[in-house]
Amino acid sequence: MNPKDFPEDAVHENGNYENKCVVCGSHFIGLKRRVLCKECYQRPPVTFSQRIAELEEAVRVLAHDRVHGIADMIGAAVINNHTARAAVEKARKG
Ligand SMILES: [Zn+2]
Repeated sequence: MNPKDFPEDAVHENGNYENKCVVCGSHFIGLKRRVLCKECYQRPPVTFSQRIAELEEAVRVLAHDRVHGIADMIGAAVINNHTARAAVEKARKG
């Protein structure tokens, strides 16, 4: 079994699509709308800025593919990361 696949998606309609991960570029099987393979999806970000860069790349790829709904969803995640980082910095400054 490919550890990048989402076998749990197979029970859903459109759950057996071959997708291309926007982070590592690998092909994987899962829901039609997934943009990250399972390894990239589960890997914790080393830094906020790294994850933001990944998400911004995902937004760029998706916008190019005109998948606006998912691009908006990931854009919201980027904003959440920015908000989280601002909260961490504020807490550090006390
Ligand atoms: Zn990946």
